[in-house]
Amino acid sequence: MSTTKKKTKRCPCGNTNISRFCHKCSKYKLVFLLINDQGKEFSAKTGRLANPARYNFVKDNKLSVQEVAYKMLERFKKTTKESTLLANSRKIIIYSNPNGQPLLNMDV
Ligand SMILES: [Zn+2]
Repeated sequence: MSTTKKKTKRCPCGNTNISRFCHKCSKYKLVFLLINDQGKEFSAKTGRLANPARYNFVKDNKLSVQEVAYKMLERFKKTTKESTLLANSRKIIIYSNPNGQPLLNMDV
């Protein structure tokens, strides 16, 4: 609990705090491959229901994909919504957010 006021670090696009994820600046995108349609989320991009996606925190962009996967999974365990998604998934896939290349494929 610091009393010094720090300027909030923003991600490169200026939109958000780097301790948060950003659809533009996060380096990795994690997609839950759900066992069934339950839990699918509306995608603003396509206008359809899709497998849910989550982005890494911008401050973790410097980490390797394995480290980010681990941190994201640890984060998900603490939230009801994401731990339910995880329980309803057969795999998670991590993509490079800038170019959509799959980087890591994990059974869960
Ligand atoms: Zn950003």
